[in-house]
Amino acid sequence: MGVNVGAAIGVGPEGQLPLPWLGDALQRAHALTHAHALLGHGPAGVGQLEFGLLLAQSWLCERPDSQRSAGHGAVPAMACGRCDSCHLVRSRSHPDLLVVLPEALRLQLGWADDDEKPKGEAKPSREIRIAQLREAIDWAQRTSGRGRGKALVIHPADAMNTTTANALLKTLEEPPGQLRIVLTTADPERLLPTVRSRCQRVPLALPAPEQAAAWLRAQGLAEPGPLLALAGGSPLEALALAAEGLTPEVLAELPRRVAAGDPAVLQGRPIPRVVELLLKLAHDAMALAVGGAPRHYAAASLPVGGDLPALVAWQRELLRAARHDEHPWNAGLLIESLVSQAAAAWPVAARAPQRGQPGGRAAGASLHSPR
Ligand SMILES: [Zn+2]
Repeated sequence: MGVNVGAAIGVGPEGQLPLPWLGDALQRAHALTHAHALLGHGPAGVGQLEFGLLLAQSWLCERPDSQRSAGHGAVPAMACGRCDSCHLVRSRSHPDLLVVLPEALRLQLGWADDDEKPKGEAKPSREIRIAQLREAIDWAQRTSGRGRGKALVIHPADAMNTTTANALLKTLEEPPGQLRIVLTTADPERLLPTVRSRCQRVPLALPAPEQAAAWLRAQGLAEPGPLLALAGGSPLEALALAAEGLTPEVLAELPRRVAAGDPAVLQGRPIPRVVELLLKLAHDAMALAVGGAPRHYAAASLPVGGDLPALVAWQRELLRAARHDEHPWNAGLLIESLVSQAAAAWPVAARAPQRGQPGGRAAGASLHSPR
């Protein structure tokens, strides 16, 4: 895959922007030359962290004038991608770039050092700890390693609790030296007003469906449509789903398998992902039951005959599971339990062939018919 999200993010030597839909926002952000603190905000999956890193790379680039090197039709990046600084940013070893992430995310991205790995039963933190922020402030006070200012990326800024966010205020207000700061969030309202008011906001938008599909095809996804729909239009999220083996074929079968009470298609997947897939299915099934249109799954893949009250009850269970996604339950048992409740919501569709229904292919048929 061309863009290995999480490993090396940044403008490469070819000078092209890895996530072209961020181009407008990056140009706007780059033009805010007097702002020392920026807040990139946009929907989950738009590439908030990538935006922070690309902006930091453009601030630190040592040959920013050579930015127009992208090929025809390509979005010009704000960093050259070739200078020493750009290389250091991509290899995550730039002395003047500090990226502050929650420990859980560092582990997920493969960025954690060995001594950071949680010991024993300890769960990695989903918050940015105050100690991390204090280290960042200390780092900010030191002289720039390459003499061209420094960049601090904090992602997501809403992972700072009130105490941690308060500790950042002074640095946001008066960054030492030539420090520039980029914060990211899906929802600025979740930040302290005092943090928000010290930042220039830069909205980030998902690409149009055609641009998203074209980008995904360039990453090697032959049929991006169903994944993109399930991912709510986010190409990065669609790519993550594909990497988890959620192919269009699996997605086409998933709703009927679940309605038939078969958890196999979900077993082995992380609980938050399972709950998300099921919540989206519950949403679509309820929409269908009241004559609406599904949003996440292809209409043809959805079983008919969903029982609305049972679907509502199932959704309530799913939301409860979503709130407790760290529970000590055996994951396999939890998935079985959630799927067996789904089967109760399709009492007829799951078990008997349907007659007289439009497109009334039996929901269970794909399970039991010989292939
Ligand atoms: Zn450069």
